[in-house]
Amino acid sequence: MKWDTGHLERTRAKGELAHAVVDGSDGTHAVELSPVRSEALQLKALHDEQFWCSTQANGCGGPLVLAAGQIRIPYFRHHPGAACALAGDNARAARSYEHLRCQRALVAWLTAQGLDATIEHYFGPDGRADIHVMVSGRSHTIEVQLSPISLVEWRRRDENYRRQVDQVTWIYGAGAETAAAAEQATRGHAYNLRAHAEQAQAFEVGVVTDLTDRWSHLDECELRIDRFWTPRLDEALADLATAREVAAAKAAQEAEATRRRAEARARQTAVVHHGPAAETVESTIPDNYGTADWWRTFFPGLAAWTPDQGWHWTDGLTDEGKATAKVLAYVVSRLYASGTVDMLLSADTSSAAEAVAALERGGLVRFYERAGVERWERT
Ligand SMILES: [Zn+2]
Repeated sequence: MKWDTGHLERTRAKGELAHAVVDGSDGTHAVELSPVRSEALQLKALHDEQFWCSTQANGCGGPLVLAAGQIRIPYFRHHPGAACALAGDNARAARSYEHLRCQRALVAWLTAQGLDATIEHYFGPDGRADIHVMVSGRSHTIEVQLSPISLVEWRRRDENYRRQVDQVTWIYGAGAETAAAAEQATRGHAYNLRAHAEQAQAFEVGVVTDLTDRWSHLDECELRIDRFWTPRLDEALADLATAREVAAAKAAQEAEATRRRAEARARQTAVVHHGPAAETVESTIPDNYGTADWWRTFFPGLAAWTPDQGWHWTDGLTDEGKATAKVLAYVVSRLYASGTVDMLLSADTSSAAEAVAALERGGLVRFYERAGVERWERT
């Protein structure tokens, strides 16, 4: 299976499809047509010339003809006059069938674990595979997201599923990078799906954290009562936890050093004025939630990360501005693709404005206004 079928789609004319199913009008057994004529003819013989435009991929359910002539790249076509949403949109058809293949692979994987999985809904080519399965009395849904969705849409659906079932697992394709980053930012890790590089029809599942991505063969993964488990999950989460502890310890050390300096200053002041000792400084240590320190703790990968643009655009900022700019660059490059300027300004109270302005100089974001609200988007 190929994620990027665009190169093939471009060489086939409109209405010349690369995909079909071989198990009937509402079938799920999808096949992808090779651009090589001899292989296409093999497929034609193998399935006795029986191919359909599956309703499961939002097709019309009609029969398709496999054309493999001497000159043109092989393709499936509808019978003349067929009214079908996929007939005129090859890219959409390709996405729909990718989806179908993921669904089918996951259902086969669940069945092999003795679980009874059902595909309950299909929400179109830009939607997802919605697989429901019970594991020891707990209800699970597995959502396969291959195409981009907005963060608002991701949150809305995520909350919706969590109201309905005990356990929700999102699995993202490369096209759904922004939603995957949102989940990673929320839960610490996200699951990605990709075609196996060498084994046809096989898939790999990756556990992606702020630090790393660790891939396993789908067949080695398990749907457990409380989680989607992969052989690399535990180590990925352990590494993340360790890195967060290290970062938190460092932040605590820095806070302690700051506190001691403040105490020393307070003592000096007290000596000069012969007044009473300064009040306890505990309360002067701010809750650092949302600050550059907090971001560095929560996203340990940040320390070693550099944007494609490098850091020259932070030249001229104060040290604090540079630290904030680094966090914001990470946010706008890795986590979110767009949002309000207010959201960026809230990252750090004292140096955010200069850092936010620098993002545009660095070519990381573009600012615009909509409905009176200042907004930004990733360039
Ligand atoms: Zn059709």
